[in-house]
Amino acid sequence: MIPYARQSIVTEDVQAVCEVLKADFLTQGPRVPAFEAAVAEYVGARFAVAVSSGAAALHLACLAAGLGEGDWLWTTPNTFVASANCGRYCGAGVDFVDVDPKTYNLSVVALAEKLDKAKASGRLPKVVVPVHFSGQSCDMAAIRELTAPYGITVIEDAAHALGGQYRNTPVGSGAWSDMTILSFHPVKHITTGEGGMVLTNDPALYQKLQWLRSNGVTRDPDQLHGESHGPWYYEQVGLGYNYRMSDLQAALGLSQLQRLDAFVARRRALAERYDALLEGLPLVRPYQAPWQASAWHLYVIKLSLDALTWTRRQVFEALRAAGIGVNVHYIPVHTQPYYRQLGFAWGDFPVAEAYYQRAITLPLYPELTDAQQDTVVQVLCDVLAQAAGGGR
Ligand SMILES: *Cc1c(COP(=O)(O)O)cnc(C)c1O
Repeated sequence: MIPYARQSIVTEDVQAVCEVLKADFLTQGPRVPAFEAAVAEYVGARFAVAVSSGAAALHLACLAAGLGEGDWLWTTPNTFVASANCGRYCGAGVDFVDVDPKTYNLSVVALAEKLDKAKASGRLPKVVVPVHFSGQSCDMAAIRELTAPYGITVIEDAAHALGGQYRNTPVGSGAWSDMTILSFHPVKHITTGEGGMVLTNDPALYQKLQWLRSNGVTRDPDQLHGESHGPWYYEQVGLGYNYRMSDLQAALGLSQLQRLDAFVARRRALAERYDALLEGLPLVRPYQAPWQASAWHLYVIKLSLDALTWTRRQVFEALRAAGIGVNVHYIPVHTQPYYRQLGFAWGDFPVAEAYYQRAITLPLYPELTDAQQDTVVQVLCDVLAQAAGGGR
């Protein structure tokens, strides 16, 4: 089976982790701040806080934004559930903004309309979480412009987009947002096994994120409420969590970061090859907005079902049966039982739902060879020929 995604681990990565195993610190030690500094420099952000997962990064970013009961968080339905769950962790209500039919990212038009209505009804969100789906940046300048008048905190979910650019600026720079979160799950651009990060340019948010990550505890003299009792002294200044990243993970992340540019370059080359090889087939290739350069986490095709007698499920199952590890991103979050129980229903966000009915994610990862990609395309051509001609 050719998987849809896969990590790339080389000898240097293994050595970097083994060195930490023999060193003094297994949990947060010198590699964590080194990894934070390296990622912050890469994206051009002032501060970075490494945490145990992308979901933890979203949770802490929402807490740092002051999100709580009685507040609202808005995100896109076309994302992993974590982008919405972070609002619920804080006791806030979660609502969604439908997607753009071309980019499948949060629609700026829908956002503008929804903000107008929310202003009228007094239900404006405190936090908006745009997700850079598949690695393509949302239109951040437009999102900033729409949300700024209401003082809304913008948290970019860049789990798909490390290494991408928006208006010639690295995703994560924070030029159009308050915080950006990353995930280092093995399918993402660089991995730490499990891991995540919050990036920000705001010193106050940075301070808060640091104690939120470590049980609410700080040793920073600037943050202490009282006089120090001595060299052992620390204070719990708020209610935090143990969301720390270990030095083992940070060492792997630092080693992986050396190859990030090569990973993104290979993903871009493979995406270009797919674009060329899939021309003329009954499917829509991923549209790319001209003001951004995708980091290509996912290559998603949308089947032209009108030209096929088969369903998306039949095409998907035929591809899997032929050894192609296709996947689907995403089941619209509002249709999950947990969110339906909160009042959402099929039909609430029709653009995301129509997209979901047609989408298939093709294999894309740095170690995918041209020959393997040719196999994927050949099998897809055969399956679509059958799907167009009937049979089954
Ligand atoms: C992977 C992912 C996350 C969560 O990251 P974890 O590290 O798995 O917790 C959040 N949002 C999106 C869009 C993701 O793809």
